[in-house]
Amino acid sequence: MQGLHRPLAIETVPDPTPGAGELVVRVGRCGICGSDLHMTEDPAYGKAAGDVLGHEFAGEVVALGRDTTGLALGDLVAVMPLQSCGTCQTCLAGEVAWCDQFGLQGGGFAEYAVTRANQCIRLPRSASLADGAIIEPLAVALHGVNMAGLNTGDAVLVLGAGPIGLAVAFWARRRGAAKVVVQDIAPHQQARALGMGATGLAIDPSDPVGAAARALGGKADVVFECVGRPGLIAQAVDQVRNRGTIVLLGLCTRPDTFNSFAMLSKEVRLITSAFFTRSEYEAALDALDAGAAQPRLLITDTIALDQTPVRFEALRTRGHDCKVLIAP
Ligand SMILES: [Zn+2]
Ligand SMILES: [Zn+2]
Repeated sequence: MQGLHRPLAIETVPDPTPGAGELVVRVGRCGICGSDLHMTEDPAYGKAAGDVLGHEFAGEVVALGRDTTGLALGDLVAVMPLQSCGTCQTCLAGEVAWCDQFGLQGGGFAEYAVTRANQCIRLPRSASLADGAIIEPLAVALHGVNMAGLNTGDAVLVLGAGPIGLAVAFWARRRGAAKVVVQDIAPHQQARALGMGATGLAIDPSDPVGAAARALGGKADVVFECVGRPGLIAQAVDQVRNRGTIVLLGLCTRPDTFNSFAMLSKEVRLITSAFFTRSEYEAALDALDAGAAQPRLLITDTIALDQTPVRFEALRTRGHDCKVLIAP
């Protein structure tokens, strides 16, 4: 990136050299994520000129550093973009996103990226590089659904029909939710939401809350907030049943206000969800490996690396795209 509030630029940089325990991946597919868009707008992410974005990628191992074990040249891998110390209790439990030394791996918007062997998961033959690139958003959504403690037969409301919202719909149905209503103010992803497992839609720019109540037949047991805009927590409190659960997955970097009395009166459980565990990442791959075809519906386009700056800017406006993959 060229800096905050500036478009991305294509530059030629030296090929990376892997250090001890590291390897180089020739990137096959890398997804563009909503958080990548945030990273070029919000200083909270700590990104600066010269950084290479891209954390949803898969590719081929083309160079191994010293002491790098478990993988061979030519292996096709998905890269779990969670960097951590690898030795603390949290890391050893596979909960690397909560390591004190955690950092989000980038570098996927490039031909070659350096990563560590312990972040790579070998792709089974059934999984393509495109599958490898969508494991990350699927794992993010799966973690949210696991955090919710969903019960069979639950009525679920998903706010936001972006990739994470649709992936939440997919997992919620697999976990036995009886109703999964996806609410959005834009109509672009209606068919895709139904394809991913939604049982109903609440697409109404003038009255999305009323549309959701009609589609659910009342209040939701669990509301997943997958947008990240101020005002939506307050709205979710209104839409959830007494003693229901709200899971925050949307990244909102602006201050938000809600009426805590309204939340307390209903005894709402408010849960935040970020990243995923290693086993959730593997479970997302297993679902694809076992033949689940729905997640592939998320992919709406595959573009060349040199198209990235223009498409990246276009993704700031809602349109028909869901997940765009770069094929460097
Ligand atoms: Zn992402
Ligand atoms: Zn650690």
